Amino acid sequence: MIADARRQLVTRRCRVCEWQGERIETTDADMDCPWCHAPTRRVNAIALVERRRPVGVSVHAAALGRRGGLKGGRARAAALPAQRRRQIAQIAARARWSRRSKRDGGGR
Ligand SMILES: [Zn+2]
Repeated sequence: MIADARRQLVTRRCRVCEWQGERIETTDADMDCPWCHAPTRRVNAIALVERRRPVGVSVHAAALGRRGGLKGGRARAAALPAQRRRQIAQIAARARWSRRSKRDGGGR
């Protein structure tokens, strides 16, 4: 992650064509028009406040949790015999497809 770059939400307009758009860029960034590749100019810039990590998870708690090494899918998959993994995958697939058909194409 970029630590100290000042990020801004910048509105840019092409100097040649009608293009205008917003994007996030650092202070001294520059860009060409995505339509005609002419230079663009900034018409507006709003500084963004950096949010380094999601709130709620303590660094210390996370570090403590990691002390035993990363667990999860990978460790589990290595411990299980192939036959059991296959069984689990089949159950999951069945559950997925039965859910989908019940909701009549719903899902997402
Ligand atoms: Zn243009």
